[in-house]
Amino acid sequence: MLALHGNVGQYESMDIFAGLTAAGQAIDIAKGLRSVEKSYDTVELKMQIVDLIDKLVDVKGALQDARHEIENLRAEVAASKAWSDDLDNYELIDVYLGAMAYMPRLSAETATETPFFLCATCFGRKSKSFMQFKGQDITKTGGRGDFSTYGCETCKATIRVSYRTSPTSVRDKRLASIKLN
Ligand SMILES: [Zn+2]
Repeated sequence: MLALHGNVGQYESMDIFAGLTAAGQAIDIAKGLRSVEKSYDTVELKMQIVDLIDKLVDVKGALQDARHEIENLRAEVAASKAWSDDLDNYELIDVYLGAMAYMPRLSAETATETPFFLCATCFGRKSKSFMQFKGQDITKTGGRGDFSTYGCETCKATIRVSYRTSPTSVRDKRLASIKLN
């Protein structure tokens, strides 16, 4: 059915690599400091300390970036999990002759709640958007036509259904078919 595309793979841990490189350089400088210390070259010692501080600042910055990225990834994983858990609450329904919409999965609870159509296009993009009633066709003679339109405010997708078709009629038909089985 719906493929859930996580964005986790697109992240590269560049900040962690940058942090490791800077940490390695800082360690090398610290090792160098030890030999400078032995020779008592104060100018060299001061320069090395400045270098060391620079590298440690790089390490800190890289680690902060990495932490930020990990927090973003955690939030993304949580949102993705919440969406996939929520998926179970809906099912794709052939509302009328191939006009598709998502509706709440039938249960004792949803059987008594106000039913609704959710836009299948938006649902595929992990977004829930109602399909609202847009009106019944008017015939050339000004009478009421045989079809009605439901439309999504978000993506402007529409479905045309028999004028008798509504979320309630579809829900009741599905409930009846379950009782027959
Ligand atoms: Zn839509």
